[in-house]
Amino acid sequence: MTDCLIIGGGLAGLECANTLITNGFDVTIAEAGATLGGHVAQWHECFPFQRTGPEIVSESARQIDRATVLTGTKIVRLDLAPNGNLVATTAAGERIEARTIVVATGFELFDATIKEELGYGVYPRVITSAELERAWADGRLPFDTSDSTAPRFAIVHCVGSRDLKCHATHCSKVCCMAGIKAARELKLHYPTCQVTNYYMDLRMFDTGYEELYHEAQTQQNVQFVRGRISEISLGNKGRLKLKSEDTLLGIPIADRVHGVVLMVGMQPTSAIACGDDLPPIEQNINGFVSALSPLRANETAAERIFVAGACKGPKNIGETLADARAAAAKVMEKLGKCPPTPSSPI
Ligand code: SF4
Repeated sequence: MTDCLIIGGGLAGLECANTLITNGFDVTIAEAGATLGGHVAQWHECFPFQRTGPEIVSESARQIDRATVLTGTKIVRLDLAPNGNLVATTAAGERIEARTIVVATGFELFDATIKEELGYGVYPRVITSAELERAWADGRLPFDTSDSTAPRFAIVHCVGSRDLKCHATHCSKVCCMAGIKAARELKLHYPTCQVTNYYMDLRMFDTGYEELYHEAQTQQNVQFVRGRISEISLGNKGRLKLKSEDTLLGIPIADRVHGVVLMVGMQPTSAIACGDDLPPIEQNINGFVSALSPLRANETAAERIFVAGACKGPKNIGETLADARAAAAKVMEKLGKCPPTPSSPI
């Protein structure tokens, strides 16, 4: 039995574990994937810190040697045991008993093939923001521009977010800033290139974002067009043709580019079922986990089941870390009132 079972070993799960272990509690992490660190571990450079994803993850994982880590372990169901503890059942049918649980299952990236008009999976020069990060991390240039001295690139915002056709009304929150970061990086690696960001709205909500946006316009000469891309097709010499409308000027526009980066949005992960003795873990209209209320953002209707991070909806790294620490505080508050286990300090 563990003081706290954390479901998900991404950034939120690791930060929550780190806080609990630092305070002397026994933690088990159940991660469905093969490795810890989630999406952030795959990212080359994270804004506005200018640090790599693995560096950020390693800080949250600094107590990981003191946790029980179960990778390849997907939790599919939660129940209340007769002795009052919680029991998590894995996809393989194993049971893990815990005094408290934190759901920190993170998010999935939108599958860009669903937006057929954008040509992802058809044209190799259409890539996702995650693939762009992978290319930078591997030290590769993402696009071949050897036939041009002045290549052009397009960055398409809101792919799979704010889109009723994709059943996603939510804004993924971080991709406006990530799109500007991508434009700046393309400018750095292809110094003579022209980059245009196609956006619906630009949401520069956090510290430092507006300044990076301003710099992108005034110092890197990145272009911004308010318009949604309606079609990407193949043009001459392997270039891509983009059709859109400038919604500020009300005129149709066409562009020809060497490469397109799709800013894919965040999607919910699959829900975890609860047995009859526990209230269900609620989901909002977009399928993300609903906390008890906006004012009790780490609690659920089940007394000892808490929730942390982007499984509740899109969050940036700073918000995810703060939310994970808040969830850990709620767990410690609750464990202080539970009967202690032999391994527990209370
Ligand atoms: Fe669209 Fe920007 Fe929201 Fe991402 S953050 S969904 S790009 S408005």
